[in-house]
Amino acid sequence: MIFDIVIVGAGPVGLALACGFANTKLKVAIIDKLSKKILVNPAIDGREIALTHHSANILKKIGVWNYIPNELISVIKEAKILDDSSKYSLNFKYQDINKESLGYLIPNNIIRRYLYKRLKDISNVTLINRTECLSIDNNNNKYSSLLLSNKRKIKSSLVVAADSRFSKMRSKVGISAFIHNFDKNMIVCRMEHEKPHHNIAYEFFRYKQTQASLPYIKKQSSIVTTVSKETSSYLKGISKNKFNKEIQNNFNNFFGKMKLIGKRYSYPMITTYSKKFVANRFALVGDAAVGMHPVTAHGFNLGLKGLEILTKEIKSALDRNIDISSSRVLRNYQYKLHRVAIPLYLSTNGIVSLYTNVTYPAKLARKFALRMVNSIKPVKQAFLGVLK
Ligand SMILES: Cc1cc2nc3c(=O)[nH]c(=O)nc-3n(C[C@H](O)[C@H](O)[C@H](O)COP(=O)(O)OP(=O)(O)OC[C@H]3O[C@@H](n4cnc5c(N)ncnc54)[C@H](O)[C@@H]3O)c2cc1C
Repeated sequence: MIFDIVIVGAGPVGLALACGFANTKLKVAIIDKLSKKILVNPAIDGREIALTHHSANILKKIGVWNYIPNELISVIKEAKILDDSSKYSLNFKYQDINKESLGYLIPNNIIRRYLYKRLKDISNVTLINRTECLSIDNNNNKYSSLLLSNKRKIKSSLVVAADSRFSKMRSKVGISAFIHNFDKNMIVCRMEHEKPHHNIAYEFFRYKQTQASLPYIKKQSSIVTTVSKETSSYLKGISKNKFNKEIQNNFNNFFGKMKLIGKRYSYPMITTYSKKFVANRFALVGDAAVGMHPVTAHGFNLGLKGLEILTKEIKSALDRNIDISSSRVLRNYQYKLHRVAIPLYLSTNGIVSLYTNVTYPAKLARKFALRMVNSIKPVKQAFLGVLK
C-alpha cells in the first residue's frame, strides 16, 4: 500500500488533520488501533474541551463545525481566576476581545464523533481501524514505511504521528521529549448545580487543590479537580452523595447544591514537549508534539494550530509542485509551531508550578501575579490574544 500521507492515530487531532486534506489530490490514510464502532461513537471520557475562536474557525474550514448540533455547544462568556479563598479575581470578559463570547465548550467525545462523521464523506482518505502501528523505518530517501499489527507494510511519502503524548512513533524515530511529571491527578466529571453559572468559567487555585468549573448547557458544569494521587483515589472511591458534598464544600457553596451526572474520570498530570517535531519523512502533531497541562485548556487548541500550519505548508508545496515531505517543508512547520508552542507550554507549566506552591513567598507572588495581569494592559492582552 502506497500513500502520500499516513496519519498514525485517529484521535481528535489526527482526524482533524485528515479532514484538512479533503478535495486535494493527496492519497491519505489514517490508522488507529481502535475499532470503527468506537470511532463512530466514542465513549464519554469526562473531558469537556474549551475551544478558542481560532479553533472554531479551523473546525469550520475543515467542514466539521456545521455537523456539531448547536444544542451540544456551550458558550463561555467570562473567565474568573481566584487565589485560595480571596474574593479578588483576575477577569477575562468577551468584551475584551470584541466578540460575543470568549470561546466554546464541547465534550471531547462529541468533537471526535463529528470529526469522524465528516471524515467518512471524504473520498481520498482511507481509514485503517483495529490496527496498531508497530514500527517505522524512515531511513529511505523516497518514503517512510510502517509495520502494522496485521503484519502488512505500508509506504508513504510522509508519516505524521498523532499518537498521543506518549507517542510510540516518536520514540521509534529516535526523537526524545522533555517530560514533566507534576505528580498530581485531575478528576473530571459533569455536575448539575442549583445556582446558574451565567456562562462563566471559574478557576479557584486553593492551597490544597485546584478547583475549576467550565459552564456547560443548562445548569451543568464540567468540574475539574486537581489533587494529589491519594486524594484522587479517595475522591473516585467515595459514594456519589459524599462526592457531591465534598465538591460543594470545595466551591464554598458557590453553586449551591451540586449533583454528579455520570462517572468520575481521572488523568495523570504529565506534560511532554518533543525535542524535535520533524525527522526524515516524518512529523509530529497534537499531543505527540506537545502534551500540555490541561489547566489552561490549550492542548487541543494548540493541536489544531499545529495542523493548520502543517496543512498550509503541505498545500503550498503541492501548489509549487515540490515534494510535500522535503526537509524545507518540514523545517518550516517545526519552526512555526515552536514559535507558538514554547511560550504557551512554558507559561502554563509556570502557572501550575506557582499555583501549587504554598510557601510564604509563593503565596505573595500568587496574589501579585493576578493583580499584575489584571492591571497591566499589554500583559492582559497577551493572555487574551490566545483566545481570539
Ligand atoms: C482532563 C483533560 C481536559 C482537557 N481539556 C482541554 C480543553 O479544555 N481544551 C483543549 O484545547 N484541550 C484540552 N485537553 C487536551 C486534549 O484533550 C488533547 O490535547 C487532545 O485529546 C489530543 O488529541 P490527539 O489526537 O493529539 O491525541 P489523543 O487524543 O491521545 O489520540 C491519540 C490516538 O492515537 C491512537 N494510537 C496511539 N498509538 C497508536 C499506534 N501505535 N497505532 C495506531 N493508533 C495509535 C489512539 O488509539 C488514539 O485514538 C484536555 C485534556 C485532559 C486530559
